[in-house]
Amino acid sequence: MQTQTPFIHNHQLNVIRKQADFLLKALRTVADRKVLETVRYTSVVNALEAFGELTEEQRELLERLGTYEAAHEIQDYLNALDAYLIPFPDIAPKRIQKLFSKVKKLKAPDLPTLDLHHTTYLRWVDPAVHRLFIVYPRAGDFVGIEGQITATNRKGYCAFCNRHQDLGFFNVKLKGSSPDNLSSVGQYVCMDDEACNHSITDPAALEKFLRSAGK
Ligand SMILES: [Zn+2]
Repeated sequence: MQTQTPFIHNHQLNVIRKQADFLLKALRTVADRKVLETVRYTSVVNALEAFGELTEEQRELLERLGTYEAAHEIQDYLNALDAYLIPFPDIAPKRIQKLFSKVKKLKAPDLPTLDLHHTTYLRWVDPAVHRLFIVYPRAGDFVGIEGQITATNRKGYCAFCNRHQDLGFFNVKLKGSSPDNLSSVGQYVCMDDEACNHSITDPAALEKFLRSAGK
């Protein structure tokens, strides 16, 4: 087999997984062939919508989602898509230090242990000081924000991934005063770094939050 050219971002894989779940549920519960055909069609359309321009082979690969009958076939298919994932860009520990140069005794993430293929945004918590750090790639470089994370001890919808998860309130202090005269911006987000990256299907809300935090 020839080497695949990666073309799937983590959040797009999450879209495909979501559509695969939707199809799987229908395969288990729906007997009507016509209804199943519609579900197959819809799941493929929804998956394709997460992408811009595609080559014929790429489109064909994504359309294959709609052809399976059994759960293990769908699982094998999803696993095979990992070969097409665009990983989170390489980042040197020094670059991370520089992004958070004002933080004393920065607790940096242990990069080699992270699954950077299934990462839309790099995030980690320093539990000693209850601070959440976020690094996001932009235009060949990175932006970083950090702020207080406070467990709410309840579930709700994460502002970044929109899944029902254990939430924390993330509060980022702003430098000087923003145009709206805010001294900080905050959002309810996942407490679990990995869960959020495994759920996020669109980075737009995260990007908007970064902008609101001046990044
Ligand atoms: Zn989340």
